[in-house]
Parts: sequence; structure tokens; C-alpha cells
Amino acid sequence: MNHSKSLATRLIKRLFGWYLLMALLVTAVQLTIEYSAINQSTLKTLTTTSRSFAPGITNSVWNLDQGLIQAQLKGLIQTAGVTGVKIESDYGKYLFTEGYVPRSDESFGHGFFSLCNYESIPLKIVTPEGTQKILGSLSLYSNGSETLQRIKSKFTTIFFNSIIQALGLWLILYLLITRQLGEPLKNLAHTVSQFNFDTEETTLGKIHYQYQDDFGTLVKALKEMQTRLLTSRQELIATTEELVRYREHLEALVNERTAELLLARNAADSANQAKSMFLANMSHEIRTPMNAVLGFSQLLERDPSLSILAREKVATIMKSGEHLLSIINDILEISSIEAGRIEVHTECVDLYNLLDELAVMFRIRAEAKGLSLTREAAPDLARYIMADMGKLRQILINLLGNAVKYTRQGSILLRAFTAGNDWIVIEVLDSGIGISPEEQEKLFSPFERTKSGEQAAGGTGLGLAISREYAHLIGGEITVESNVGKGSCFRFEFSAPQSEAVPKTIEIPRRVVGLVPGQGEIRVLVVDDVKTNRELLREMLAPLGFVIDEASDGVEAIKKAQAMTPRIILMDRVMPGMDGIEATRILRKSFAKDSLAIIGISASTFEAEKQQLFNDEVNASLRKPFREQELFDVLTRHAGVLFVTEAREEPSAIQQKAVAPTLEKMSSEWREVFRQELARNNITRIRKLGEEAKEIDPVLSAWILEKAARYDIEVLKKLNDTNKIQRG
Ligand code: ADP
Repeated sequence: MNHSKSLATRLIKRLFGWYLLMALLVTAVQLTIEYSAINQSTLKTLTTTSRSFAPGITNSVWNLDQGLIQAQLKGLIQTAGVTGVKIESDYGKYLFTEGYVPRSDESFGHGFFSLCNYESIPLKIVTPEGTQKILGSLSLYSNGSETLQRIKSKFTTIFFNSIIQALGLWLILYLLITRQLGEPLKNLAHTVSQFNFDTEETTLGKIHYQYQDDFGTLVKALKEMQTRLLTSRQELIATTEELVRYREHLEALVNERTAELLLARNAADSANQAKSMFLANMSHEIRTPMNAVLGFSQLLERDPSLSILAREKVATIMKSGEHLLSIINDILEISSIEAGRIEVHTECVDLYNLLDELAVMFRIRAEAKGLSLTREAAPDLARYIMADMGKLRQILINLLGNAVKYTRQGSILLRAFTAGNDWIVIEVLDSGIGISPEEQEKLFSPFERTKSGEQAAGGTGLGLAISREYAHLIGGEITVESNVGKGSCFRFEFSAPQSEAVPKTIEIPRRVVGLVPGQGEIRVLVVDDVKTNRELLREMLAPLGFVIDEASDGVEAIKKAQAMTPRIILMDRVMPGMDGIEATRILRKSFAKDSLAIIGISASTFEAEKQQLFNDEVNASLRKPFREQELFDVLTRHAGVLFVTEAREEPSAIQQKAVAPTLEKMSSEWREVFRQELARNNITRIRKLGEEAKEIDPVLSAWILEKAARYDIEVLKKLNDTNKIQRG
């Protein structure tokens, strides 16, 4: 048994201390009582003794028999308890002492706690004359030595008595406690410690305690607790089993779903791959013939031998071709965005200029429809900002284009302001057909068009989807608020920090008419497997003075390049046999980039990796279909070719004045011819008239040439009809 842990032992230890203390207390009390009794008896003895000796001593003092007095004193001192005797006359005539006598009685202890006692009685005598006379006094002293002696002997007896009684009592209690409390407690502790959940037995049930005392209550409470624990345990086991089953079910579900998702993802991946491949092929298959369609149309258009009717048809071919191309471009753009292939190019943008340019561009279209277009810019709007110019422009062109397209009457407002912390808001408001609330959110999904929109004008439903994706790419957003029949407000907002630098001005391309003399013979090798493409390039370049040779694949290109040492190779990428990438790689071993400019031409934008390989090898690349101007730009920039261009007005002057072209300055003959040619839709003649106007009204001339280049006959007719364009 571990004593230190036993409650009974601890109790007994404590009790032992208390009993010892009690024994001491009892001893002290008994001793006090004893002491008081002894003291009383000493005092009594002194009184009795003094009284019995007083008559004899009075006679001896009366007779002044000193010898007798001394003898009597000696006798007195022999009496038990008397340690000193004193006979003193009243007036100090004599003094007899024996034993220890204190100098003064006051200094001798007297009282309950003093061991010293004394008794003093007068010595009275009746004189022969019959009068009573006091001769002096007899004092007996006890210094307590005997009292002490007696107390000492009593103490031992009392003390041992008390100790033995206390120990006896303690022993009895010890036996009772260990038996009545210690043992049952030990048993209880043992039984509780033996309690095992697994056996599911209420082990406490084995304990039988017949008394209804505290311990009995404890046992009962423990028994109840054990029963409750067992019930809870059973419930817990049931819940755990259910949880395990549920977890297993969940795991099975998760596995099932994961497998389904994997299948779906694989399906989506292959669908995506198929889509990318389809788009890559479509891009290539459509762009290649489109290159020929648009290129030859451009060349045909220049042909002076063409009849007016044929020219109009060529113009329609070009317009339709360009529309088709813009649709293809939109589709490819959306796919590129989805594939995450569009990057953000931040540069310094002149926001005022951009807004002005767009306002001018769309005002002409708006006014042609009888709508007014105004531009508002908040005074605190930053002029130069860091943003992706291309994307800003594209978004705003889409929004303004839609505003013009879906508004029949009223006005359009292009409004820009800041909303704090480099946050720029540009709104395009119109008084057009409006959009119902249900249709508003759908608009931003590809190919979504509103019912009223479909009726109002043609479109693909891609513009807003591309715009919103662009907005997201630059960290911005496009939202719409609209009322059917009242109009719409498209809100484009984005964050763009102000720029310290000023953007470079962009050159407006001029029409190329020939090669600057003195550049020597510029030999160009055109490599393409498609004959029409080769012919197109030949027709674009040969009239300007280039010397052209052709090759239909990579192997032929290498052979011809070595024979003719061209200054420029226009290399198609995709060709049967040896492709453009391989051919360029081989050519690069013999010709460095600065001695031979290889301009890559590709139709597909989707095989990004291959395109990158190609781009690394060539000096520059062009994407089919390209405009003549793009080709001339690349040749100037990357092959150092200098072209002779037509003279033109300064762009700033054109831009500033282009908003208000009128026919006022032109002669009546000119106006008449202009009207006739417009009626015939003769775009070449109109262009000629536009060029004739350059001398008299350069603004009008630039405006007509721009519209003619876009085949905007309707807008041109509007100018002729009204003979004026409102200044805005
Ligand atoms: P698209 O104009 O080529 O059809 P968009 O994506 O630019 O494609 O626009 C999607 C549709 O949203 C349009 O077809 C038209 O129904 C509607 N919409 C766009 N802008 C406006 C507007 N300003 N007012 C009314 N409807 C509009």
C-alpha cells in the first residue's frame, strides 16, 4: 500500500498531531488546577501553623524570653511548607527571624501565579489590667520550593496519563478509519481503474456497500456515471461507424467524380486541341486565298483599262473580302484570348489625341446617319498615360461603332473622366434602340446579339466579347446600363498611371509610287508553293522597279538564291517538301541577316511554337493577308529599301480640319462631276477628283481619299447631297 497516497493515512497523520496537542493542553489544564490546589493548601498550612504557634510565642515575647523565642522559631521552621519565620514588634523594638525572610513583604510574591506565599498574624495579649495589647506580628513565609516539588511530581503523572489516553484514542480511530474508509476507498479506486470500455461491464456493480452515507452516495453516483459512460460509448461507436460509412461513401463519390472530371478534362483538352487545330487550319486555308483576293483586287483597282462597272465589282469584292477578314480576325482574336496568347503592351498613350481621333473618325459616320457625336473630357483627365494603346483603341472603336450602328436618331456622347487613383472612366452614351435587362449581361458572351440588334444591323456578336476580354486583360471592366427605346451607356473603366514621357507620333503612310533611284538593282526572290501568291507579289513589286524571281519550295529557293544572290527573299512558311523554316535555316549558313533580308510570310497564327522558330530566323515577318503598305514598310525597315511616295498634307492639319469638310471651295463643274461619279459609284474617278481637290481644299481632299479607300460611298453621297457637313 502506498501510504502517501492513502486518504486514511493522511487523516490519521493529521489526527495524531491533533491528539498530541490535545494531550498537552489537558496536561496544562490539569497542572493549573493542581497548582492552584497546592497553593491553597500551603496558604492554609501557613495560617493554621501561625495560629497554633501564636499564643506560645505571644507569651515568650511578653516575657521577652529570647531563648524560648528562638527555640519556638526553630520549631516553626521545621513545619512542612514553612521556609522562613519573622517576629517583629510594632515599633521595631525587636526582630527575630529564622530561615529565609524577605526584606519587605510586598516584594515577596503573592497571588495566584506566584509560588511564594506568606501569612502574617498579630501577636495579641490581654494585660493583667485586663486590656488587650498588640505586641507585634508573627509572619510565616513559604518560598514555593515544596509547592514546585509537588507540582513536578504531579506533572509527570498527568502528562503520561494524557499521552496514553490520546494515543489510545488515536489507535482506535486509526483502526476505524483504515477499516471503514481506507479499505472501501482502496477497493473503489481499484474497481474504477479496472473499468474497461471493451468489456462493456459495469464493474462497479460488483461493489456492495450497505450504508446510505457519503461513501454510499459516491458509489451510487459512480455506478450511474459508469452506466451513462457505457451508453455514450455505445452511441459514439454507432456514430463513428456511421461516419466511417459516410466517409467511405464520400471517398467513392470523390473518386467517381474525379474520374468523370478527368474524362471531361481529357475530352475538353482534345476538344480544345481540335479547336486550335481547326482554327490554325482555317486561318491558313482562308487567309492564303484571301491574300490573293484582296491583293489582286487592289492591283485590279489601279488598272485604268477597267470599265466602271468592273471597277465597282472589284470594289465590292474588296469590301466583302475585308469584312470577311475582319470576321476571321475577330474569331481568331477570341480564340487567342481564350488560349491566353494575347499579351499586354504598355506604352505611353496620348489620351486626348486618341479620343479626338476616335471622335473625328466616328463623327463622320454618325453624321452620315444624321446623328451628332460629341466628345467631353474632364479638365483633370491626364493627357499622357501608360496603357495598351492597341487594346484601348480597339475597345473604344467597338463601343463607338456599336453606338453608331444601333442608334437611328439623336446623339452619341464620348465622355472621359477620372475616378481617382489613376482610374480612368470612358463612357459611350447613345440614344439608340437600347438593350433589355435580360439581354444586357449576355451581350459580353461571344456570338450573343440582342433581338433588336439583329434587326437593326448586321454583326457577328464578337465585338463586345473581345472588348470585355481586352478590358479584363488590362485590369479594367466594361459595364452597360440601358433602357429599351431610350438608349445605352457603355462604361469602360481601367487603371492607367500618368506618364511623364510624351508618345512618339505615328507616321501616316503615304502611297508608294516607285523606288528611289541609285539603290542599284534590287533582286527579290518570292518563295511560295501557291502560284497566285507568287504572282500577286510579283505584280505588287515588279512595277515599282524590283527584279523578281520565283521559287515554289525550300529546295528550289536555296538553289535560286545561290544563283541570283537576291537582296530580299519573301519566304512563305508552310510549303510541301522543305518548308520556309528549314530553307531559312539553311540559307542563313551562307547569307547573314544584314546581307540577305528574309521576310517570312505566314497565314496561320496558331502554331505559335513554329512561328516563333521562323521569327527567330527571319529578319521580319508578315501575316497574310497583308496590305501593300505593310509590305513596303517591312522592306524599308528591314531591307533598307527606299520608296518614292506621293506628296501629302501634314497629318495634323488633316486631322484638325477633317471634322468639317465642305464642298464650298470647289468649282461648280467639279461638284457636278463629283455628283455624277458618286451616282455611278465610280470609286476610281472619285479618288481622282479627291486628288484634284488637293490644290484647292486639302482637308476635303484627304477626307474624300480616306472615304474612297474605305469604299464609304454612302458617306460620300451624304456630303454631296447636303453639300455641307455640320461643323462639330
Ligand atoms: P455586333 O455588333 O457585331 O453584333 P457586339 O458584340 O459588338 O457584336 O454586340 C453584341 C450585341 O449587343 C449587338 O448585336 C447588339 O444587339 C447589342 N448592342 C451592342 N451595342 C449596343 C448599343 N449601343 N445599343 C444597342 N444594342 C447594342
